Amino acid sequence: MTTLSDQLHLHPEQLSAYWMPFTANRQFKQAPRLLARADGMWYWTDDGRQVLDGFAGMWCCNAGHNRKPIVEAIQKQAGILDFAPPFQMAHPLAFDLANRIKAIAPEGLDHVFFCNSGSEAVDTALKIALAWHRIRGEGTRTRFIGRERGYHGVGFGGISVGGMVANRKMFGNMLGNVDHLPHTLNLSQNAFSRGEPKWGDHLADELERLVTLHDASNIAAVIVEPVAGSTGVLPPPQNYLKRLRDITRKHGILLVFDEVITGFGRLGQAFAAQHFGVTPDMITFAKGVTSGTVPMGGVIASSEIHDAFMVGPPHMVEFFHGYTYSAHPLACASGIATLQLYEDDGLFGRAREMSSYFEDALHSLRDAKHVIDVRNLGLMGAVELAPREGMPTARAFDAFLKAFDKGVLIRTTGDIIALSPALIVEKEHIDRIVTTIRDVLATVE
Ligand code: PLP
Repeated sequence: MTTLSDQLHLHPEQLSAYWMPFTANRQFKQAPRLLARADGMWYWTDDGRQVLDGFAGMWCCNAGHNRKPIVEAIQKQAGILDFAPPFQMAHPLAFDLANRIKAIAPEGLDHVFFCNSGSEAVDTALKIALAWHRIRGEGTRTRFIGRERGYHGVGFGGISVGGMVANRKMFGNMLGNVDHLPHTLNLSQNAFSRGEPKWGDHLADELERLVTLHDASNIAAVIVEPVAGSTGVLPPPQNYLKRLRDITRKHGILLVFDEVITGFGRLGQAFAAQHFGVTPDMITFAKGVTSGTVPMGGVIASSEIHDAFMVGPPHMVEFFHGYTYSAHPLACASGIATLQLYEDDGLFGRAREMSSYFEDALHSLRDAKHVIDVRNLGLMGAVELAPREGMPTARAFDAFLKAFDKGVLIRTTGDIIALSPALIVEKEHIDRIVTTIRDVLATVE
């Protein structure tokens, strides 16, 4: 068959112009894995092979691929209003989408600031935190507390509060004024936990130690993912997030939940905050807000935060921050259609219903070759492998390549296989993903 790459004359020597992100470029270009189209739970490769998407694209296509109402909304919007300047101007869809997000957000989180990605959402939330303390006359609160194994994107703020070692190695901690809580994964205590592990909520008390060290008057905010995603799906210990909330509140420290992955149904509720019954002061989001179709991110802030900015001469800009593409009309059109589709198809409820089947299926891999842990919550899951002697990450990467050859897209991080199927996933899809992983693990070295 004539592939799209043939039509575009993409011969091997033409692959080097595109410097690919977070990719082993040289390995990839030796044997490219090219996707040409997608529908529902499936991708089709450029040479026509069907591949089951076990990862919702990249934790983002929560409604599945090529959903008609979303596609049509984007197409229609492109012909009506392609762009509207977001500074001192706006368009109606931005307000409509903000209201829809407010309606499904935890009570009290009533104001949405739009940007274009998770990384921008994180940096925006950090800036809001700094500015808020300053406006209130507590300008010494400039330190942020992140967590080991946290991933908050790739901006200088995000990598500084993040705890992904490879990201920090090259660039350090440019924000400087940062400290970290310990991560909560402890295989000797928690291996093969189903859902939230029983052990480990005392690790939240490490925040008290950091407050004693730095003094609360110097700390602006704590930022954590409710379930750490990109470093390998780490559900929080039972009660851990509640304890973090109590300690932050006691010391006047803002709590930010980075819900770039957990937002929009992944745990069976609109936000993980609702699943855990813990309301932070800000939520960052991206990915699922448009089901991955158009780049968009944002921060949902409490009224207490937002209202503190709304002072001073009314003609003055209150917050010196924003992006050319904040609340882009195509992203807003997609976001509105996506949230409507989540509601019409009851997809958050579906995620809740499917999560126990997903859990059982995943834990059936407990006895598969190389497996040292299985973890899950909602429709997020991970299978951790023992690393190959002297070659960390190689075993999982081989498994990823072999699974792709066998028609299943998974993702690996370190020696961990991560899964996050779209919320439309059916039992037979889960079976196929799990069977493929088992077969692949039997054959990787
Ligand atoms: N925050 C979290 C929790 C994420 O998982 C991600 C990406 O996976 C980001 C931030 C960064 O998002 P983006 O890649 O859209 O900048």
